[in-house]
Amino acid sequence: MEDRFGHRISYLRVSITDRCNERCTYCMPRELQEWLPRAEILTYEETLRIVRVAVGLGVSKVRVTGGEPLTRPGIVPFVNELCAIDGLDDVGISTNATLLTRNVSDGVTIAQALREGGARTVNVSLDTLNREEYEEVTGRDLLLEVLLGIEAALAAGFEAVKINCVLMHGRSEEQLVPLVEFAAAKGLLLRFIELMPVTTTDVLHERNFFSIATARRLLEEEFGALIPVPEFRTNGPATYHQIPGRSQRVGFIGAMTNLHFCESCNKLRLTCDGKLRPCLGSYLEFDIKTVLRAGATDTELEGFILDVVERKPQEHDFRTTYQPGRKMVAIGG
Ligand code: SAM
Ligand code: SF4
Repeated sequence: MEDRFGHRISYLRVSITDRCNERCTYCMPRELQEWLPRAEILTYEETLRIVRVAVGLGVSKVRVTGGEPLTRPGIVPFVNELCAIDGLDDVGISTNATLLTRNVSDGVTIAQALREGGARTVNVSLDTLNREEYEEVTGRDLLLEVLLGIEAALAAGFEAVKINCVLMHGRSEEQLVPLVEFAAAKGLLLRFIELMPVTTTDVLHERNFFSIATARRLLEEEFGALIPVPEFRTNGPATYHQIPGRSQRVGFIGAMTNLHFCESCNKLRLTCDGKLRPCLGSYLEFDIKTVLRAGATDTELEGFILDVVERKPQEHDFRTTYQPGRKMVAIGG
């Protein structure tokens, strides 16, 4: 699938829930959440059907996300079925890692079960290694659970365990080096992400913004000039640099300051309530659930998906006209 601007679509982010056991300041408001009613959420069967059709059109990678995907019952059999789809060769999970150690059966952790089912990678959100700060950012005192969750993912033998750190002014400065050292010690691929205006809370103020350029400069003060590795990509928008004298690479996701950010975009997003979104940073979304529930054939669903691809914008609106409508937690990061 290719859009009007030459973006080749091969990657589908699939959100399976808007619920979460954490309350990250930049992702959802702190006050009591109104979750979507169950009937609004695509059933696993419905999600699998949409993925199958998308795979038939050229999608080869799916990342399961949310909300917190591990809070939804039945995720293990769902991921197993996803991994069994012919032509889908890469399935990953995005998680806050708090539940990865949970037992699904006799001594088998959810991490192990997902890996055995065929998931290849796990992306874990972790912005700080300081317990108080972790609680301030996420609203929950769960850093220890996250660290154990990362160990469970490593023990389960995923091909890659990546750490995503959202950069925030006044917080990230002290955390950059400890996170790099933690990633080095554990063999994790660390990526720094610029804060995007995808929720309605006041954290998205400019005073909280921390650019990847600043992060790089601070890391260079500690480690010396970082070495760009343009040939290393991970199927997403991160650009990677190597720490001098080490084999360790660190990724930078500069959604706000990298003006070429959207050029290599290969993604569509499916929200848990059945909206196809051609771009994270655009208000555009198209209701595939209604069409599906009205009895659409696979050919009709194909037509729907191709139409959404046709409407994919050249780049996101974050720097211009974007008005946060949905919270990140309800889109699927
Ligand atoms: N709960 C899972 C997790 O935390 O990884 C999956 C969903 S979460 C919405 C996916 C990713 O989006 C996380 O890495 C999170 O840090 C990122 N994210 C959420 N809000 C963001 C924002 N305003 N700007 C940049 N990244 C954000
Ligand atoms: Fe939950 Fe992930 Fe959003 Fe944090 S970033 S509130 S863990 S969905």
